[in-house]
Amino acid sequence: MYSKVKGTNDVLMENAKRLSSIEAFLKRVVGVYGYEEIRVPILSQTELIHRSSGDTSDIVKKETFDFEDRGGRMITLRPEGTAPVIRAVIENKLYTRQLPLKLFYMGDMFRYERPQKGRYREFSQFGVEVVGTNSPYMDAEVILMASTIFKLLQVKKYVVKINTLGDKESRENYKNALKEYFKDKLDSLCEDCKERFNTNPLRILDCKVDANSEILLNAPKIQDYLSEKSKAEFEIVKKYLELMNVPFVVDTKLVRGLDYYTSTVFEVVIDGVDGGQSATICGGGRYDDLIKSLGGPELGCVGFGFGLERLADIVDDNIDIYKKSVLCQLIPIGDDAKVHFVKLLNELRLQGVDSEMDYEAKNLKQHFKAADANNAKFIIIAGDEELKAGTLNVKNKITNEEVTLHEGQLIRYMMQVVGESEESCGCGCHHDGEECCCEDGHDEDCCCHKHE
Ligand code: ATP
Ligand code: MG
Repeated sequence: MYSKVKGTNDVLMENAKRLSSIEAFLKRVVGVYGYEEIRVPILSQTELIHRSSGDTSDIVKKETFDFEDRGGRMITLRPEGTAPVIRAVIENKLYTRQLPLKLFYMGDMFRYERPQKGRYREFSQFGVEVVGTNSPYMDAEVILMASTIFKLLQVKKYVVKINTLGDKESRENYKNALKEYFKDKLDSLCEDCKERFNTNPLRILDCKVDANSEILLNAPKIQDYLSEKSKAEFEIVKKYLELMNVPFVVDTKLVRGLDYYTSTVFEVVIDGVDGGQSATICGGGRYDDLIKSLGGPELGCVGFGFGLERLADIVDDNIDIYKKSVLCQLIPIGDDAKVHFVKLLNELRLQGVDSEMDYEAKNLKQHFKAADANNAKFIIIAGDEELKAGTLNVKNKITNEEVTLHEGQLIRYMMQVVGESEESCGCGCHHDGEECCCEDGHDEDCCCHKHE
């Protein structure tokens, strides 16, 4: 009898389905924001991981899987996605393309940790990296995207925590202030923190052992050491998030565990139930020096990583993304309509509108049963009468509204729904062949009277 390696998991069928639904959902969301997929190897040069995460980080000190391969090279199983992606950006000169690059990745990461719920030795991350951006607007957009993911997944009680580590000058001043503050308090800190005091005092703030001690709570705050430029940039991030109605809190102790972060950092956390431990589901921030330090050009970057197992744990089983769902279900009444709808089905699919029709259904009841099974958002139905008039009835299953469209309008109507285009009101009203008055955007006098 063999057993799985400690800290690894068999993902059985039901859970595999959950994970792949979440992955597909995440890809869809970041696709809307213009991200493209990149796939990079699991095997990394040890030097790359150590250099990027930092020799004093927990990951490098305690968690990496390092080994020598048969050719005597030092190899590390990637513990995170950013360094391997940035290595690929540099090696493939992706920075010569139109910037910013907006990349997403997904895959297994490896960390030698003490296994427990939500903490494994092999786990899966979904992350994004924007390469070639200095704008704090992009920091905010990345945070907005992370928070939108939680909102769309109907996760309750998530907290977006943000902070800034400032620019180099601010960080140096702050590190000095921390050293000054901690120097006569070392005896009260944990063993790791004593070492952090010498190597990177910022990391003391990230200590899980000392997290709630008075000493840490009263430590100097980065906000008092920020340069004017860093302050102004952080203000833009906050303003943008307010504008976008992203609820957030500023957590001055948030420093993140990897060495490469600069200025904006953030986490999305689910607070522990009944005083239990809170879980960080997503972490990220800006890292402006990493590309240069790995031998590439000087380019600002920002990104985040989600732990997929932790995300899957908090997403409700009953939400839409787990259900099969199509946008349109075509229901023909009679043989002529069926032949007609076969063509229409193909046209809709060619335009990227996912649609279904039950070829086997013998009556309306069976057609509607198929629509329910497919969780169709729209029912498109027509019989001989409509065929003659060149019209179709479209029922929105969510709002229960029904409209009659000219057949020629259907594809456009559905594409507007798919794109949820701002420019179109998607009113679907029957204009008798005349152009819809909403054609050029929302119009208060729209002929469909829906905007009154
Ligand atoms: P933590 O503080 O929980 O150790 P971290 O700061 O090490 O997290 P990151 O390196 O920022 O985490 O990774 C991003 C996300 O990956 C985390 O927020 C978490 O959801 C997930 N993650 C990190 N380590 C593990 C692990 N060992 N097992 C499962 N998921 C993990
Ligand atoms: Mg960790």
